Amino acid sequence: MTDQVAPPDLLPVRMLNEYAYCPRLFHLMHVEGRWADNVYTEEGREVHRRVDRLEHVLPDPEADPAPKTRARERDEGDEPPTISRSVSLGSDRLGLTAKLDLVSTAGNEAVSVETKRGRVPDNPERSWEPERVQLMAQGLLLREHGYRTDHGVLYFAGSKTRVDVPFTTDVEARTLRLLDDARAAAMRTLLPDPLEDSPKSNGCSRSGICLPGETLALRQVPPIPEAEGATAVRRLYPAREDALPLYVQEQGARVGKRGEVLIVTKGEEELERAKLKNISQLVICGNISVSAQTIQLLCEASIPVVHLSRGHWFYGVTQGITLRNAYDRVRAGAGGGERKLREALPEPALHIRRRPAMMPEDGWR
Ligand code: SF4
Repeated sequence: MTDQVAPPDLLPVRMLNEYAYCPRLFHLMHVEGRWADNVYTEEGREVHRRVDRLEHVLPDPEADPAPKTRARERDEGDEPPTISRSVSLGSDRLGLTAKLDLVSTAGNEAVSVETKRGRVPDNPERSWEPERVQLMAQGLLLREHGYRTDHGVLYFAGSKTRVDVPFTTDVEARTLRLLDDARAAAMRTLLPDPLEDSPKSNGCSRSGICLPGETLALRQVPPIPEAEGATAVRRLYPAREDALPLYVQEQGARVGKRGEVLIVTKGEEELERAKLKNISQLVICGNISVSAQTIQLLCEASIPVVHLSRGHWFYGVTQGITLRNAYDRVRAGAGGGERKLREALPEPALHIRRRPAMMPEDGWR
């Protein structure tokens, strides 16, 4: 089987954004054709639906302003820019195509405005790289069509914030490099590795297909030994307990405590509360945080915290070092229990008990 497929004629700029976000996401969507929406993609589509209502073409950048306009410019200042929405552009030379949300033009100067769902990011650039790359690619297309453009604008609908993105030589070089990489990736049939511990996976619409944590975990599991001739493994059924596991699956939730009660919250909202005595284990699935005080309480109470991925694959367990046995021995020693035990037990049983000399003279602390 070949590991290459036919390249797309023109790469949509949206695909470039997805490649910059995660090469594995790009592969799942555009090579394997696995589509799955989540709340973020639906919201993003709705934002673009509003922008897409009108289809426009750009004015000719070489066109001479009308004589009437020139006269008005002299008398009343500059003409307002022309706004064109949902503009389709393509370039064979770049191998790119795009539908621009909104382009503001004045003469041969153009500024592309890309609308994003959500709030403005809290980072120095006030934007994420895939968005800057997408905007720069739109700028390259505008230049191909005769316009001059030295920056673009990101508009974050969630916070109603406008962010200028300068088209620096670094952004341009990075965009062209990613464009080459994305075109090469579109021809490969080999699925790239998942991102490791990336917050991008939390909002990714393909995380249920990609299973990043599980895929990486399986890489570290040694292969199962040959089962030939081996006897079947006997199934074990644990005893039933009154306490039950508390599963927390809401992504972004936090587990805290008040006294001996665990409280699960998300933002300001309380989702669940459970008494410690009713919990046999706390099972957190995916992006859930647990306060240090809660972990200490659970360790003291010998209640394990089980860490699973969002898809319920096992990562590990946080477990306190239980001293219950030591406390029992102290109690037994203080009440003359050691002597009573010696009298109650038949002689052979005494040989298998623990040596009392193991206990310090002043008892366990
Ligand atoms: S879940 Fe993470 S690794 Fe997988 S495709 Fe999405 S962003 Fe990439």
